[in-house]
Amino acid sequence: MSHKDFGFSVVKPESDDPPRNAALAAVLLRAAPYLNPEARRHVRAFCDCLSGGASTPQAAVDLPSDEFRRPESILDAIGIRQPPVDPKMVARAVGIAVAEWDFDDAVSGVLLLDEGRRLIGYNRNHPECRQRFSVAHELGHYCLGHNPTLDVYLADPMGGPGTVFERQANAFAAELLMPRLMVRKSFGRFGEDLPWLAREFGVSQQAMWIRLVELGLATEPTMGAF
Ligand SMILES: [Zn+2]
Repeated sequence: MSHKDFGFSVVKPESDDPPRNAALAAVLLRAAPYLNPEARRHVRAFCDCLSGGASTPQAAVDLPSDEFRRPESILDAIGIRQPPVDPKMVARAVGIAVAEWDFDDAVSGVLLLDEGRRLIGYNRNHPECRQRFSVAHELGHYCLGHNPTLDVYLADPMGGPGTVFERQANAFAAELLMPRLMVRKSFGRFGEDLPWLAREFGVSQQAMWIRLVELGLATEPTMGAF
């Protein structure tokens, strides 16, 4: 397991199953009953790290809750005006620690909100643009006030549209990584060069395409036009 990105020291739990970890295991089972045993073990190991008294960064931005729900307001408050947006920097600015982790391939990201501590983990073995989206997705749950004790973001959410909260977190992630004004500006300067735009914003070409369609900059239902 890796925890080099934590920004705080992690103390291993003293026994395999102290009461606190058992409580987390129960939350995990409730939050993600569909996880395979290996994935659950990885997520639980990650969650157990909080037992070591991890602290979270002090929030650097203070926004009213309606502004806090809008990615562009948050970016404005932090002063990020150019792509690519670094979701880890945004997370830390709103007071969430971020850590890379060797999760099972089925798990893209994890958000743990527990007793005032806030932590996002992302799968370090996934491609970078996916890691970025995973962090932004978990950040979405926090900023939108969903406040789950634990969110497990799956790499393949069974092909379905997911819950309302999952869809909202994905929409937040897309707006955070591909803010409307930045995309319009880049699109205006460089036009329909999908690979270039995706690289510029640090997202997959598919995510970029969906965003272009959302913003009315592309109209074809598939990426075939490029
Ligand atoms: Zn989620």
